[in-house]
Amino acid sequence: MRCPFCNAPDTKVIDSRLANDADSVRRRRECLTCSERFTTFETAELVMPRIVKSDGSRVPFDEQKLLQGMLKALEKRPVSMETIEQAVNQIKYNLRATGDREVVASRLGEWVMDELKKLDQVAYVRFASVYRSFQDVDEFRQEIERLEAPK
Ligand SMILES: [Zn+2]
Repeated sequence: MRCPFCNAPDTKVIDSRLANDADSVRRRRECLTCSERFTTFETAELVMPRIVKSDGSRVPFDEQKLLQGMLKALEKRPVSMETIEQAVNQIKYNLRATGDREVVASRLGEWVMDELKKLDQVAYVRFASVYRSFQDVDEFRQEIERLEAPK
């Protein structure tokens, strides 16, 4: 995206969200050359972006797989199905709001952890311990202590 002020070719996205009609993505951009900021409205990808796995392969976004992963973390936890579906919808919103064709899997994983952290801390630790494959027991304990710290 060229800068409309100085025509430099490189601008960076500083904020990205779905516009009110949800068919376009509103982006705040900043020019890397002259530092001017401007807003663009870009057509949202109607299909979900593809997920780039750590080995570089691309797979379609799989809502069922996402839901199953979250249900597994939330097994026997006091969280309603409706609440879980809202969390899945939030993650889908985040995916679309990037406006990108591809999103790296680690970013998706971070969004899942953000949602689980809001829903249920036990589920969050379960998911994070597998997802981040904690290097050692200390790291795992630190994460739990961080969660238990008074806010
Ligand atoms: Zn510029």
